[in-house]
Amino acid sequence: MRPCPECGGTMVYERSVKQYVCTSCGTVMNLQELLEATERVRAERERQERAKRWKDEYLTWWLSSKK
Ligand SMILES: [Zn+2]
Repeated sequence: MRPCPECGGTMVYERSVKQYVCTSCGTVMNLQELLEATERVRAERERQERAKRWKDEYLTWWLSSKK
């Protein structure tokens, strides 16, 4: 079972249309689109994590250097 890249819901494979359908938001995509969308979301999340980490480190440094 694959998570929906849009909402994190459950994607089920609809055999009759050969597509994955999200049971939560209704997104329909084929496997290729699903993999691409999942990868895009993963990359974006990673970018945000990096930005957040950098901010935390900077804040820690800034706070400690203030003393
Ligand atoms: Zn969804």
